[in-house]
Amino acid sequence: MYKKKVLIIEDEKDIAFIVRDYLKVHNFEVMIAETGKEAIYTIEKSNPDFIILDLTLPDCDGIELCRQIRENSNVAILILSARGSDTDKVLGLGFGADDYMTKPFSLSELVARINAHLRKQDRLLQDQVNNKDVIQVENMEINKIEHTFTRDQKQIQLSAKEFELLYFLIQNRNQVFSKSQLLDAVWGYTSFGDENTITVYIRRLREKIEKNPSTPVYIQTVWGIGYKFNTKND
Ligand code: CA
Repeated sequence: MYKKKVLIIEDEKDIAFIVRDYLKVHNFEVMIAETGKEAIYTIEKSNPDFIILDLTLPDCDGIELCRQIRENSNVAILILSARGSDTDKVLGLGFGADDYMTKPFSLSELVARINAHLRKQDRLLQDQVNNKDVIQVENMEINKIEHTFTRDQKQIQLSAKEFELLYFLIQNRNQVFSKSQLLDAVWGYTSFGDENTITVYIRRLREKIEKNPSTPVYIQTVWGIGYKFNTKND
């Protein structure tokens, strides 16, 4: 099972080690960075799922580091500080921190908060995946839930297999597929499939979606290989 990666940015070794050991017991993979420089390096290399950030580091200001991390990443950041008075400053001024705890802190509370943020992240990711059921390409939109395809907001009627073939091509746009790959992807077989089926379906799709089916812009033939759905800016 994939372990979520937590990066502890903390120069006080005692604290860093206690947190690391506790998180490991709770099934996290843990990295420690003792300086801002090390932190940036580790983030680029290991792409952590969660960051615990101490505000007072030897080589930089934690808030500045937080802002720097946020410029390049959406990773959840929890700030640890010895000063309770920093709370408003950290959370209120848009440095990009997601949460805040004051030292001394409870380890079980820390894990609870990490888990809450990770669950939230997972939900967001899941939403993004689900949204892929609707793909927009240039002036077209294909919707897998409603099984509809529109060009310039006008719906174009497609048969079930036409739709599946078009959806597959659009989902994997700008990649070339052979006829047998398309048969396999849409009809689910290759040994009994007739590759002429693909030729026929491609012709029908072009007649329906291309402005000029004899010189297709979108569903292009790649000679000797197969077909691809071509987009300019995607
Ligand atoms: Ca410190």
